[in-house]
Amino acid sequence: MDILFISSEVYPFAKTGGLADVIGSLPAELNKNGLNARVMLPLYKNIKDEYAPSLTFHGAFTVKLGWRDCYCGLFSMEYNDVVYYFVDNEQYFYRDSLYGHYDDGERFAYFSKAVLESLKYLDFEPAILHLSDWQTALVPVFLKLNYQGDEYYRDLRTVFTIHNIEYQGKYGLEILKDVLGIDVKDAGLLMLDGNVNYMKGAIVACDKLTTVSPSYAEEIKFPFFSHGLHDIIKENSYKLSGIINGIDYKQFNPYRDKGLYTNYSANSSHKKEANKIALMEELGLEYEEGKPLIGMVGRLAEHKGIPLVIRVFEQMLELGVSFVILGTGDYHFESFFKAKAVEYPDKVAAITGFSASLASKIYAGADVFLMPSISEPCGLAQMIALRYGTIPIVRSTGGLKDSIQPYNPQTGKGNGINFESVNAHDMLDAVYRAIALYNDPTHWKELMKNAFASDCSWKRSASEYIKLYQSIVVTE
Ligand code: ADP
Repeated sequence: MDILFISSEVYPFAKTGGLADVIGSLPAELNKNGLNARVMLPLYKNIKDEYAPSLTFHGAFTVKLGWRDCYCGLFSMEYNDVVYYFVDNEQYFYRDSLYGHYDDGERFAYFSKAVLESLKYLDFEPAILHLSDWQTALVPVFLKLNYQGDEYYRDLRTVFTIHNIEYQGKYGLEILKDVLGIDVKDAGLLMLDGNVNYMKGAIVACDKLTTVSPSYAEEIKFPFFSHGLHDIIKENSYKLSGIINGIDYKQFNPYRDKGLYTNYSANSSHKKEANKIALMEELGLEYEEGKPLIGMVGRLAEHKGIPLVIRVFEQMLELGVSFVILGTGDYHFESFFKAKAVEYPDKVAAITGFSASLASKIYAGADVFLMPSISEPCGLAQMIALRYGTIPIVRSTGGLKDSIQPYNPQTGKGNGINFESVNAHDMLDAVYRAIALYNDPTHWKELMKNAFASDCSWKRSASEYIKLYQSIVVTE
């Protein structure tokens, strides 16, 4: 079965979040299972600059976008046994950042159209296009509106995965004809609440709709989580399923991770402490035996639960913990943590920036990983924490609920510490419970053992995707 993943970001070429990790690891796992999965993404500036000598040119052609005739160059490269295709257009993609440009709606409309046009130039005939998030949401829309008359596309099927429903690709009506070239009689496919909504279009037009955990698949039917799409999701729930993400066990492995101060595994978990000591020294924090270090790595956005942390930050420190946070995002959140790091230089470290190597050191060096998300489609950070034997404290929502089971000292089961409501004091209570367990070596060892033993690999979810593909693929 030939599957082409289409994504606006893929690790290691371009990454702003978990989507890149998923598309950077799932195709390889599918290929191990006998599929032929490949990936297509834009040829961003950093990729062109870094990988140009390794790219193979497949051809150039014109993509029509509204009244525009746009250049499209097609390149490919094999990396870690997966073939990657790159869509080249310097006007749209030769820029310093992936997103946040005034014409993002046009850039990703172009990308979606270019994907469909490029299929005829590939040395590969996918049966299914697997799309992710709003940046690729116009692929099924264009496929339905513009390509059904062409025999070549007749049996092509689409899977659309929602990684994050918050970003939908919402634009004014003027984009419809001018940029997308879509006639007003077809506008209904994309219209929602007076806007053109790319994600709505994909939800309606795709053959299968998925999201990245079973709990989130249920949650997005409700307004609290759906950012306005709940009715559309409910109408299309007959084709919706939730498949939890995995992480790349080769990439995230405390035994092999070259970035760590000391490597360790489940069998040598006592060496984890050396990472904590070295990390705290590097960050200028005071190490005190028996006092836990709480770590956070992630985007500093409201839905990540940062306001809860801010609300009880002082009380948390009063419990005797140290705290390290690595993240970028909302300016106010960044400033808060920076100010606290100045106020408590021995106890708090705040690094605003993106650093995979420091992230690894935090996953390894922290005792507890705090992830109090208000909503969380899947979340990878808590899984990486488990892999490094670091105990996650999570709010029970979305993928956090599906991957972290509350530890029960009576039964010895569970791999983390959970709290339920969007309430800072509930979170504080969870931190309190974590500290109590930390101070009880028998239970803490058991909890760490369970964390290490948790299966967050792609194995289990890859087979679910294969079943899904089999249910829609057109066989001759
Ligand atoms: P989301 O996709 O919502 O941002 P996830 O938990 O699914 O959150 O994935 C985030 C990924 O990005 C994880 O691999 C995490 O370690 C990484 N990450 C997030 N922020 C940073 C940062 N500032 N520096 C390094 N890695 C980061």
